[in-house]
Amino acid sequence: MSAVEIPPGAVLVVNAGSSSLKYQLVDPETGQVYADGLAERIGEPTGARIRHEALGRSRDLEVPLPDHQAAIEQVAELLHSDGIALSEIGLAAVGHRVVHGGRRFHAPTVIDDQIRSEIERLSPLAPLHNPPNLVGIEAVSALLPDVPAVAIFDTAFFHDLPEEASTYALDAATAEKYAIRRYGFHGTSHQYVAEHAARFLGRPASEVNQIVLHLGNGASISAVRGGTPIDTSMGMTPLEGLVMGTRTGDIDPGIAFQLARVGNMSIDEIDELYNKQSGLKGLCGDNDFRAVLERVDAGDPAATLAYRVYLHRLRHYIGAYMIELGRVDAIVFTAGVGENAAAVRADSLADLQMYGIEIDPVRNAERSDEARRISTDAGEVAVLVVPTNEELAIARQSAAVVAGTGT
Ligand code: AMP
Repeated sequence: MSAVEIPPGAVLVVNAGSSSLKYQLVDPETGQVYADGLAERIGEPTGARIRHEALGRSRDLEVPLPDHQAAIEQVAELLHSDGIALSEIGLAAVGHRVVHGGRRFHAPTVIDDQIRSEIERLSPLAPLHNPPNLVGIEAVSALLPDVPAVAIFDTAFFHDLPEEASTYALDAATAEKYAIRRYGFHGTSHQYVAEHAARFLGRPASEVNQIVLHLGNGASISAVRGGTPIDTSMGMTPLEGLVMGTRTGDIDPGIAFQLARVGNMSIDEIDELYNKQSGLKGLCGDNDFRAVLERVDAGDPAATLAYRVYLHRLRHYIGAYMIELGRVDAIVFTAGVGENAAAVRADSLADLQMYGIEIDPVRNAERSDEARRISTDAGEVAVLVVPTNEELAIARQSAAVVAGTGT
């Protein structure tokens, strides 16, 4: 019995990266978070640490973390010292974020040996993401062998994109051979936010056409018709689409040939350039949006150009998705930038009154953690801010699939 009373049915949500492990212990029904934290620099010779918060107490520890197994064991020990014994609190499930579900996975899936090898087989599609996700699954399963482990795929929501939206105009046989198509990412967030937005509007999701803007350090946009996505900006990988903190987003594919032929850059160098050294950071040196906005306000030319390029791309997609949807009931902002940067919301939808889109500056300037409407009452299109909560979405989907009520 744990010293701290945690009602049975909580879910441990795990997001394992190559050298990190994010976790949250959450009640899927109430959304109450009992603990959360981040283990960083796993497997690195120095600087490994865990930032851990449980039951209102936070700790920041430097501790050797040779591998993910060591990290999850440390987390379990920290929780134990908080009075939470993971193996005794009646966990409903461990919910693992898995980045790539390929064409195979379209729903939350209880993980067994066969599913594990299928996820492994998808690794070539997401070589930087799926292998560490699997390492996290192994490590937690070793610690909690009796708790069902569930995989929640970042691509699942977009699994059934219409063919014309998911197909690249690439030689069809080559695309088939290498499973090259548009998969979409951030699906857990887009789905959670789209469902929440429909509830906020008091309408069934099946009746709402909306554009969801997930604007964080990574960024993507989706067009959702009656609860079903019909397009999204990320593609085969999370590199396509909007300008992001450090990623290019859309770029002429020919630029890679130029960099290789004329710049003698290797594939790995170009990958690093596109993913880590581009986007806002590449344009102005900062990828933190707060810093970019401060520099824009101070008249800094590089930050101002970066901001204009960011907005240009965003408006390009908003316009495209308005046409694809035909009728738009709501435009919904979420994630770090979408939830907090009023200027981005105002500027990305400026001068669209003729389409029924009109932001109320007073509503837009209000700060809140709750879902809210920021458009004027006259605007036909409801512009909303809906905070995302991927951990809660993962917890809910995991608990539902284990209870046999999931999709
Ligand atoms: P996320 O990836 O969802 O955690 O979002 C991270 C991004 O949100 C970073 O670029 C932050 O700078 C940005 N962000 C967080 N708070 C604010 C804020 N108050 N104003 C502008 N950007 C913010």
